Amino acid sequence: RHQSARSAALFADNIPPAVYDSLVQTVRSNLGEMHRYMELRKKILGLDELHMYDIYVPLAEDVKWVIPFPEAVAMLKNGVAVMGDSYVEILSRGLDSRWVDLYERKGKTGGAYCDSIYGVHPFLLLNYQDNLDSAFTLAHEMGHALHFYFSSQEQPFIYSHPAIFTAEVASTVHESLLMEHLLQTTSDRERKIYLINYYLEIFRGTLFRQTMFAEFEKIIHEKAENGEALTSHFLKEAYRELNTAYHGEGMVVDAEIDMEWARIPHFYDAFYVYKYATGLSAAVSLVRQILTKGKPAVDGYLSFLKKGGSDYPLNLLQEAGVDMASPQPVQDAINRFSGLLDEMEGLI
Ligand SMILES: [Zn+2]
Repeated sequence: RHQSARSAALFADNIPPAVYDSLVQTVRSNLGEMHRYMELRKKILGLDELHMYDIYVPLAEDVKWVIPFPEAVAMLKNGVAVMGDSYVEILSRGLDSRWVDLYERKGKTGGAYCDSIYGVHPFLLLNYQDNLDSAFTLAHEMGHALHFYFSSQEQPFIYSHPAIFTAEVASTVHESLLMEHLLQTTSDRERKIYLINYYLEIFRGTLFRQTMFAEFEKIIHEKAENGEALTSHFLKEAYRELNTAYHGEGMVVDAEIDMEWARIPHFYDAFYVYKYATGLSAAVSLVRQILTKGKPAVDGYLSFLKKGGSDYPLNLLQEAGVDMASPQPVQDAINRFSGLLDEMEGLI
């Protein structure tokens, strides 16, 4: 018998509840950085009052940045060059040998996806448009593709498919490598603001917001487990308190936000969203190590890809160089977020 709904949900990936608590605690103790972002937003947008809907307004002037597919491929290859020649060679081979269904056409499904057929190779569905979003989607899905490629090469069928917990680390490592490369090589001020805005929003949406969701889930499940009723009044109040704590004094939390939880489909798949936050943290931490330590970190990461689903996610990540039971990866991610805020402050 599980002690709570949460430990039942974490059981499949063998994740100790302490990992979940450590995520919440580390994000909580760094909420000042999120508040700083909100204050910066308010300043850049020139507002007297910042409301929740102002979060979604771009901080850069409308940047026209057309990125045709060959250019996105070149960017990605440069971004992942640090992984070594044979890695880049496999990536090129995949892109040159029809792994990808690239453009929109009539009757084709939307979105983007990667899956792999054991013994064949990975396949990607994209709907590429010539912009930065699509370039990042390409990076993301190729991250999955390389993961699947290596794990299929090295593992028997039953261990070849990684768990979501680790699969989304590989895709996010690719996105982060591309982003760090673009930040390094972009000198145009508007484009740089655009990139930093893009990356800050990833941290806000994936690390801070999903951790806030994770806290909300924990609170409401505990309430139900204590035999108390989940009234709409309680749900609204709990959600409001979290939003106020996470966004800080600079944010006017309007009454409408109290009901936002009702439209978050993930709450019906309990204790799932924390994986977005741990996944981003692990990826940012790995990228920091890859870019600062070079070969030893790259080797650790490649062996993580090759292990596929042959061990529990935390063991695999530990071998790659991130210990999710410690606050370090989440702290690494928050430190990167702070660095971006500094850079943005310097640019405006
Ligand atoms: Zn993905």
